[in-house]
Amino acid sequence: MQRVTKKQPPSNKMLLSKAIGLVILTLILFFIWDMSKTNMQAADQKTEMSVSSEFRDTSKSLKAKDDSSKTLDAHFKVNHNKKITDQTIFLTFDDGPSATSNQLLDVLKAHQVKATFFMLGPQIKEYPAAVKRLHKEGHQVGLHGITHDVKRFYQKSDSPVNEMKENQRILGSVTGEYTPLVRTPYGSVPHLTNEQKTRLKQKGFIYWDWTIDSLDWKYKSSKYVPEVLNQLQVLETKYPKEPKIILLHDQPATATYLNSLITQLKAKGYTFEVLDKTMKPFQQ
Ligand SMILES: [Zn+2]
Repeated sequence: MQRVTKKQPPSNKMLLSKAIGLVILTLILFFIWDMSKTNMQAADQKTEMSVSSEFRDTSKSLKAKDDSSKTLDAHFKVNHNKKITDQTIFLTFDDGPSATSNQLLDVLKAHQVKATFFMLGPQIKEYPAAVKRLHKEGHQVGLHGITHDVKRFYQKSDSPVNEMKENQRILGSVTGEYTPLVRTPYGSVPHLTNEQKTRLKQKGFIYWDWTIDSLDWKYKSSKYVPEVLNQLQVLETKYPKEPKIILLHDQPATATYLNSLITQLKAKGYTFEVLDKTMKPFQQ
C-alpha cells in the first residue's frame, strides 16, 4: 500500500520563523560586508603609515649618517688625499714583526689592502726584512714599545715615553721613518696615567686605541673572524659615529684567517685605510 503524504498549508508560526531567519541572515550578510569594508580601509591606512614611517626611518638614518661623517671628518678628513667614509676600516696589527709577518703581508697584498703595524723594538731588530717589506709596500708603521710588560712599561711617569723613543730610534734605523704613531701595550685604559699622556704628547707622540677587539690573542683560531663581524655590527648600531679600528695581532692564526676576514668585509662594502699623523686619534 502506497502511503500518500498530503501537503499541509504552512502554518503562521512557520512563516514567522522563516521571516525572522531571513532578517537575521540579511543582518549577518550586511555585517560581514561592513566589516570587510572597514578592514580594507584599515589596511589602506596601515600601508600609508608604513610608507610614511619608512620615510621617517630613512631620514633618521640619513641624519645619523650625516652626523657620523661629521665626526669622521673631525677624526680623519684632515688629509684630503684620503677617502675616508663611514665604510672605512682600519686594520691594525700589534706585537710584530714576527716569523708570520710575510704571510700577513701576502694576504694584504693579494687583496690590495693596507694596514697599520704597531711594532715592538726587539721584534724589529729580529725581523728587519719584514719591516722593510711592509714599509715598502705602503703599510703604515707605528710603535708599540720595548718591554710589552705592564709593570715596566707603565712603571714611571716617563717610562712610556722612554720606551717609545727607543722604539722610534730602532724603527727609524730600519725604515728611515721616525713615526710619532703609538699604541701602548694593552691599550691606554686603564694603565696610562694623565702625566704619562702629557709626557708622550710633549715629545710629539700620538697614541691610538681601537674600537673593535678581534680577541685573536685569546681565540688563536678562526673564531676571531665572526667576533670582528659581530662587534662591527654592534658598533654600527650603537656607535655609528665611531671610527672602525680593528685590533689584530701579528700571529699565525690571525694570518691564516685574514683572507676570510677581508673577503667578508669587502663583500659588505667596506674599504680599508691606514692611520696617519694628520688624523685626530681615537683614544679611550
Ligand atoms: Zn701588544
